[in-house]
Amino acid sequence: MAKVLCVLYDDPVDGYPKSYARDGLPHLDSYPGGQTLPTPSAIDFTPGQLLGSVSGELGLRRFLEAQGHTLVVTSDKDAADSTFDRELADADVVISQPFWPAYLTAERIAKAPRLKLAITAGIGSDHVDLDAAIEHGVTVAEVTYCNSISVAEHVVMMILSLVRNYLPSHQWVLDGGWNIADCVERSYDVEGMHVGTVAAGRIGSAVLRRLAPFDVHLHYTDRHRLPEDVERELNLTFHPSAADMVPVCDVVTINAPLHPETEGMFDDQLIGTMKRGAYLIDTARAKIADRDAVVRALESGQLAGYAGDVWFPQPAPADHPWRTMPHHGMTPHISGSSLSAQARYAAGTREILESWLGGTPIREEYLIVDGGKLAGAGAHSYSVRH
Ligand code: NDP
Repeated sequence: MAKVLCVLYDDPVDGYPKSYARDGLPHLDSYPGGQTLPTPSAIDFTPGQLLGSVSGELGLRRFLEAQGHTLVVTSDKDAADSTFDRELADADVVISQPFWPAYLTAERIAKAPRLKLAITAGIGSDHVDLDAAIEHGVTVAEVTYCNSISVAEHVVMMILSLVRNYLPSHQWVLDGGWNIADCVERSYDVEGMHVGTVAAGRIGSAVLRRLAPFDVHLHYTDRHRLPEDVERELNLTFHPSAADMVPVCDVVTINAPLHPETEGMFDDQLIGTMKRGAYLIDTARAKIADRDAVVRALESGQLAGYAGDVWFPQPAPADHPWRTMPHHGMTPHISGSSLSAQARYAAGTREILESWLGGTPIREEYLIVDGGKLAGAGAHSYSVRH
C-alpha cells in the first residue's frame, strides 16, 4: 500500500467555503489542439469547489483510502522539521502545486528512500530537482495543459491592466477620489504596440491568439518554430532569441519553463536593451528574471510596469521587494489555480495516480522525468544540468 503525501495551500482565512459565487463550471470538450481533458475513472468532487487548499484535498481521500492507501495532507512545508519533511521519510508519492511548492531538493530526495513518484498538480516541475529525480529513479509527472489557458487569460489581463493603468485608477475610486489626470498620466492604448512572448508553447501561443484581435504586432521566440500556417494566421514575427526580440517590443511576456537555459535570462543587461517604458509580464517562473534588476528598472523608468504572479521563494516573505516596487501589478501565484483549473488538475492528478497505482503507463504528455531521464513533455521543453 502506498503513502501519498500531498502539500496544499491553506484554506481561506474565513474557513473552507460553504457556498460559491457561481453554480458549476462551463463544459469543455477538449484542449485547443485536441488533447483530451483528464480521464480518471471517476471523481469524488464537484467541479467548481475549492480543491487546492488543505480541506479540498484535491478530492483524493475517498479514492485512495478505499484502496487501502494512506493520504497525508499538509500545508506545513518550509519550517525546520516541517510536517512535509517528517512525512517524506516514508512517502511513496509526493503531490505538490506550484502555487505552494514543496521544494523537492536533492537533499530531500536523498532522505526519501521510498519516493517513486512526484506529481505536480498543475504545470511546471522546477520545484523538483530534476537531476536528483533522474539519479534516484523518481518519476516526475505534471498535468500538462490543465491551466495553460487560465494563465494565458491572466497574462492578457495583466498586459491590459498595466498599459491602461487600471490598478492605480481603481485605487482612486476606493480612496473616494475622481482624479482623472492622476489616473491617465500613465495610461495608454495597447492597439498598435509590439508584443512579444518568450516561448510559444501552450501558454505563449494562447496569449498570442488572444491578443491578435487587439490589432497589435505580435512577436515570439522559441526553441522550435511554430508551423508556417500559424505564423501566417496570426501575422507573427519570429526571432531566434530573446535578445533579438526584446528591443523591438513594447510589451514582453515570459512563458517558458524555468530550467538552466532560462534561469536569470532577464538581467540588467537584457532589460537594458528593451525600449524605455516597456512592460514586462512574467507568469512563468520568478527566477527567469533577476529580482533586483526588475526593481532597478522600475525605479529608473526603464520598465514602465511589471506584473506576474510568480515569486521566489513561495510564499514570498513580507519584505520581498516586489511587494513595494513602483508600477507593479503582482498577484500571489494564482493564475493557474482558478476554480476552473483546479477541477482539471485534480482530475489529472487522479488520472496519474490511477495509472501508477494500477501499473499502467502514465500518459506520455504528462511525463517530465521517467526511467532515469527526461521524458514526454519534459524531454521536449526542459533541460538538465548534466
Ligand atoms: P509548454 O511546455 O507548452 O511550453 C513551454 C515552451 O517553452 C515550449 O514551447 C518550449 O520550447 C519553450 N522553451 C523552453 N526553453 C526555452 C528557451 N530557452 N527559450 C525559448 N523558449 C523556450 O508549457 P506551458 O506553455 O503550458 O507552460 C509554460 C510554463 O509556464 C510552465 O513551465 C510553468 O513554469 C509556467 N506556468 C505557470 C503557471 C502559473 O500559475 N503561473 C501555471 C502553468 C504553467 P520547445 O518545446 O519548442 O523546446
